[in-house]
Amino acid sequence: MTTLQERYTGAVMNTFGPPALALARGRGAHVWDTDGKEYVDLLAGIAVNALGHAHPALVDAVTTQLSTLGHVSNFFATEPQVSLAERLTGLLGWDDARVFLSNSGAEANEAAFKLTRRTGRTRVVAAEGSFHGRTMGALALTSKAAYREPFEPLPGEVTFVPFDDVSALEAAVDETVAAVVLEPIQGEAGVVVPAPDYLAAAQRIAHDHGALLWLDEVQTGIGRTGAWFAHQLLEGVAPDVVTLAKGLGGGMPIGATVARGGAATLLQPGNHGTTFGGNPVACAAALAVLDTIESESLLAASVQRGDQLAGLLARHTGVVEVTGVGLMRGAELDGPYAAQAVAAARDAGFILNATGPTRLRLVPPLVITSDDLDALDAALPHVLDTARAAAQESTP
Ligand SMILES: *Cc1c(COP(=O)(O)O)cnc(C)c1O
Repeated sequence: MTTLQERYTGAVMNTFGPPALALARGRGAHVWDTDGKEYVDLLAGIAVNALGHAHPALVDAVTTQLSTLGHVSNFFATEPQVSLAERLTGLLGWDDARVFLSNSGAEANEAAFKLTRRTGRTRVVAAEGSFHGRTMGALALTSKAAYREPFEPLPGEVTFVPFDDVSALEAAVDETVAAVVLEPIQGEAGVVVPAPDYLAAAQRIAHDHGALLWLDEVQTGIGRTGAWFAHQLLEGVAPDVVTLAKGLGGGMPIGATVARGGAATLLQPGNHGTTFGGNPVACAAALAVLDTIESESLLAASVQRGDQLAGLLARHTGVVEVTGVGLMRGAELDGPYAAQAVAAARDAGFILNATGPTRLRLVPPLVITSDDLDALDAALPHVLDTARAAAQESTP
């Protein structure tokens, strides 16, 4: 009998390496594999499934919209598209903003990148350790050499500065810079939180030189950190452009580029487009996510469960540092056994993620329960011991 994994290898391009599991279904913060084994999902499709799996509000919204009007192209307006744009600008508290809807984080960033070119300036300053996506434009803003080098030349004039280094930004930003692009908390780098005054300093430096502050909230946005947007946790940070995706659709593909003030009108008719962006089904899904975050008080849950998660992680032998805010957490291990910890956790029925040899990332659904976290707490000693032993065995 051919397994799903074997069929995958025969039919799907090998861009991700072999899949760790074949998953069949999910409910809340739990998923089941094709053998019926149950897992607590602390990855949530990489910070995507804000409402967990198969949330009835999301299922209803998508089903109702698809059976009413599924797709129309951007020659036409639809109620979900306009309502979502209004909701996003409202949640940002911006009355002079406009939204461009797309289908992913990379696309949200492509639109923002193109928008910066319409300032008449061409340079962009980005941070070391950044991740902004895999399309050619988004990749040009992403610092990791292994991702970039096979595809060079990339769109140019991007300068990388060390993250969380105000003087490096001061040195790099001048009157030729169109925008400074930063993640409020670097996600793919392993949940790296800058000093509390860094983003405000970045904003001052950008604005002093007539450049835009563009915050990539693709991972940090939509309640992940306990606020609608991570920058709202900080005093006096008011970006010009915010990009969103991941949690926004709760699992339906959607991206959004929100710009305000002068930046809101930089893209003019003919400058940019998308066939699927603003699709009514994806927009209805996003509206259901936003409604449910409100009705189920998931911002508060993100803070409470996030504190619980951080507290339990810090208690375990081998965890030397816990980073992050709300339900976006990194755990630094005392040795290079994060990959082994992910494997041992899987055996024990928990889906974790490693962003590097010594770093775990935990970005569970916002609906994860206290009991699920207690179960993780109980499993971690064995998981970490097994992982440490496996790592030692594999090093000669
Ligand atoms: C995931 C991510 C992206 C890319 O999103 P895709 O939907 O995979 O294209 C961009 N920026 C940040 C901060 C991300 O975490």
